[in-house]
Amino acid sequence: MRVVITGGAGFLGSHLCDLLLRRGDRVVCVDDLSTGRLENLRDAARHPAFRFVECDVTRGLDVPGPVDAVAHLASPASPPDYLRRPLQTLAAGSRGAEHALLLARRHGARFLLASTSEVYGSPQVHPQTEEYWGHVNPIGPRSVYDESKRFAEALTTAYRRTLGVDTGIVRIFNTYGPRMRADDGRVVSNFITQALSGRPVTVYGSGEQTRSFCYVDDLVRGLAAMLDSDESGPVNLGNPGEFTVAELAGLVRRLTGSAAPVDFRPLPQDDPPRRRPAVERAARTLGWVPVVGLEQGLRQTIDWFRGRSGELREAEPRDAGLTVTG
Ligand code: NAD
Ligand code: UDP
Repeated sequence: MRVVITGGAGFLGSHLCDLLLRRGDRVVCVDDLSTGRLENLRDAARHPAFRFVECDVTRGLDVPGPVDAVAHLASPASPPDYLRRPLQTLAAGSRGAEHALLLARRHGARFLLASTSEVYGSPQVHPQTEEYWGHVNPIGPRSVYDESKRFAEALTTAYRRTLGVDTGIVRIFNTYGPRMRADDGRVVSNFITQALSGRPVTVYGSGEQTRSFCYVDDLVRGLAAMLDSDESGPVNLGNPGEFTVAELAGLVRRLTGSAAPVDFRPLPQDDPPRRRPAVERAARTLGWVPVVGLEQGLRQTIDWFRGRSGELREAEPRDAGLTVTG
């Protein structure tokens, strides 16, 4: 297959490039490098079947030559990133998604949308099944991301129903691993960066809120399985193991051997109190199950961050800057 990956220089996109190249596909990575990095593509760039195109997909997307599949991952994804780029985030899920869909349509290609567990908002159903419609504040600070992805899902579905494009939607739950930026701002990279550099580990709120953390190798296997299938989805992709943020902080401190103190900070506005994927549909339709447990995945991620001491020294992990006021 010749696969176009928008957002391919980012955390997940670069791992997907590597996986597809390893199995013999040709890959065209399209990225504007707004939150991604060329160094993520160091392995891919050595491969003769790899091409990189620097392009903002919200302005248009054209790729010469054959295209068998388009995976649309281009979007800010970390809360500090999307809060800093609210309009670009909305554009990535609307104009960007439409340009990617049009490319797939022109080529009769499979289209994969990287959606998110955030479409469930602050969920009132637990664990979250794909049938659940979600509970999203449409004008809250997170709405620029949540509604952008919800619109992208609606657009993708309309292209399938109205224009017959072969589309698939996956809803990705919190994923972590090597190649996250030290200043990405998401919880796993923040805690590891803080613990390794001896800075206080910043727990927002009481730390009783939960998340379910999926290791990146598992996740991109799921993306490849969805690309290969003709399932329309949506299909949840995530690891159903559920942990409180305080438990995660304790685990990272233990695995790094860090004596960094825990610093409790205000809870960001609209922070979902709990999140856990129902993954039965992924198992049934894609034969996909995650196999890397949190402790093993964290060890591998910590080892990777240990090799980047320069970045750790410089990076000040960011917070979402969204505090509850009332
Ligand atoms: P990331 O920020 O590392 O990657 C996003 C990539 O998209 C970056 O390389 C960035 O430069 C690129 N990009 C952004 N806007 C663009 C534009 N207009 N044109 C071209 N490129 C653009 O984030 P990630 O964690 O790798 O997320 C990848 C995708 O997966 C996103 O769509 C995100 O919403 C989705 N997702 C990720 C997670 C997760 O836990 N990592 C969870 C849910 C959904
Ligand atoms: N979080 C935290 N400390 C940090 C960063 C995040 O306690 O330094 C919390 C955040 O409030 C949320 C959870 O960790 O409850 C996951 O946050 P993240 O930004 O990784 O992803 P989200 O699931 O909120 O999109």
